[in-house]
Amino acid sequence: MNNTEKLSINQTDGLPLFSQILPEQIVPAVTQAIENNKALIEKTLATDIPFTWDNFINVLDEADDHLGKLWSPVSHMNAVVSNDPLREAHDACLALFAEYGTFVGQHKGLYEAYLSIADSEQFACLKTEQKKVINDALRDFKLAGIALPENKQKRYGEIKQELALLQSQFSNNVMDATLAWSKLITDVNELDGLPENAVAAAEQAAQEKELQGYLLTLEFPSYLPVITYAKNRSLREEVYTAFSTRASDQGPNAGEFDNSDIIDQVLALRHELALLLDFSDFSEYSLATKMAESPDQVITFLTELAEKSRPQALQERDQVLAFAKQMDNLDQLQAWDLSYYAELLKQHRYAISDETLRPYFPENKVVSGLFAVVKRLFGLTIKESFDFDTWHEDVRFFHIYDQQQTHLGSFYLDLYARAHKRGGAWMNDCRVRRRLVNGELQLPVAYLTCNFTKPVGDKPALFSHDEVITLFHEFGHGLHHMLSKIESSAVSGINGVPWDAVELPSQFLENWCWEPQALALISGHVDNGETLPAELLEKMLAAKNYNSALMMVRQLEFSLFDFVLHHQYKPQQGSQVQSVLSEIRAKVAVITPPQFNRFQHSFSHIFAGGYAAGYYSYKWAEVLSADAFSRFEELGIFNAETGQEFLQAILEKGGSEEPMALFKDFMGREPQIDALLRHCGIK
Ligand SMILES: [Zn+2]
Repeated sequence: MNNTEKLSINQTDGLPLFSQILPEQIVPAVTQAIENNKALIEKTLATDIPFTWDNFINVLDEADDHLGKLWSPVSHMNAVVSNDPLREAHDACLALFAEYGTFVGQHKGLYEAYLSIADSEQFACLKTEQKKVINDALRDFKLAGIALPENKQKRYGEIKQELALLQSQFSNNVMDATLAWSKLITDVNELDGLPENAVAAAEQAAQEKELQGYLLTLEFPSYLPVITYAKNRSLREEVYTAFSTRASDQGPNAGEFDNSDIIDQVLALRHELALLLDFSDFSEYSLATKMAESPDQVITFLTELAEKSRPQALQERDQVLAFAKQMDNLDQLQAWDLSYYAELLKQHRYAISDETLRPYFPENKVVSGLFAVVKRLFGLTIKESFDFDTWHEDVRFFHIYDQQQTHLGSFYLDLYARAHKRGGAWMNDCRVRRRLVNGELQLPVAYLTCNFTKPVGDKPALFSHDEVITLFHEFGHGLHHMLSKIESSAVSGINGVPWDAVELPSQFLENWCWEPQALALISGHVDNGETLPAELLEKMLAAKNYNSALMMVRQLEFSLFDFVLHHQYKPQQGSQVQSVLSEIRAKVAVITPPQFNRFQHSFSHIFAGGYAAGYYSYKWAEVLSADAFSRFEELGIFNAETGQEFLQAILEKGGSEEPMALFKDFMGREPQIDALLRHCGIK
């Protein structure tokens, strides 16, 4: 038995044998699989016969699929049942994968082989999905600088390296600045208004440092309750000031972890990188791999949303102001007052808590209700299987069948929070749908992971409405992965779907959590089976849209700032951050932050992470999902015909075509913002 076979894959159904994976097998198995793949690449390239889909792309793809299947249970288990030896083996492999990624991405021979297929006569005869695989690969090779002359390629490498370093310094500064400030409270009365769990967390934070009292920090879970609930206005001001000046030239740690220069350098290098690759600015470079087609389209889209939302945002702001005046005789709302009075007003208007709703959402009712919803929508049947290998006894396993009872795919469902499981919720692929070299079809398998409250005693787990929404969201991603009809792994399921489009199916499915007809299927009181009463639903809907225009303009301010900053960058002009920010705020914001505010200095999404000139993606995907859902609002939320159309146009196609084309297939037109505004209660 060789090393790669040792990382157990069941020979009959091809699913991982999680329970038999030993940490000491991992590094040797991955090392060997990567070596095999590299050898296969060189051997495949060293022939005289013309390259084709079958003799070249599918052969190499199968080798990568093998590596992926080897790795998927390892990275999954590291996320959900982690332990030291597993993490060590996992982390050791990351370097191997990074090296392999560079080897493939910079391989001239591979690039030329793809080019030769694209230029050959056979290209016209390939399937749409196959053409997309080849075009995407060529695009990615080019974005990696492979087609550049040598001197430019060298500069490309330098820029990439400098950027990686600067971006990592940016986040280190944010982290250090966050850690550098804290405040010890000795009199618990100063924390008046904070929820009990926030007070307890502050007390625990103090104990961990062997201090007496309550320690407030700038970590988000500490900051958020203070700014939202603390009655003490000067405490809110102090914490706000420290938080909003992190890693900048302002505030209590001014100049100590200052990201000002790093921001300017990052922008300059990104611009240079874009020019090297023949784009006119970095926003165009970013859009090369996204659904949005041009910078103008993105800016028009964001501006239109802002224009439509701003009048209501002004009203919402004024209502909070009037409430603050009435409550505490406040004449002017400062930045540190807004969240506080907004939350007070919300409680005042719609007292509704998670705890009131939980008894209506017991686990079995919610899960079987979810399955009933997708049966009505897409004709799917979901059956539980009890014969499978797993990483934890709480995990369940299901198969999905279509109307003809054809098996489409399967998924693992791992719902509860536990120690050594990473927080949050996500969908990941265990196996992707593809046509194997031997002609057989490999069916997709997904991991659906959540962190919900475990059942207590012999009572079923009771979910909050937010948890129900999360489950629907991740299941939407899961359906995108599992209902794929595509046979080429690079564009099968969610593969090859740009990230401004990938949230479409997930956010789309969330909509059913707010519909009375669907709630009748997913809710049933744990004691008497009663479905969610209409008056509770009305309150939920009203609370859902509370201050939605204020939140909308805030997200638009961030999105426009990010996009315009990268789009309008002028190398000869020096620092442009503050001027762009002021320009955007004048147009969009309804609350002008204080002069000292430096939120951009901790905006890691765009200066440290991959959301540069891409922060708009959040709103973009929301518009798509709301717009797509509007067809169901028109024709009935369980209209099976519309369900089939969504299935065929979006879910089954995965990344095999441009998402704008797929969207237009379903809607018969380009996306419009009206439905999102309506769903947010913005008139
Ligand atoms: Zn998502």
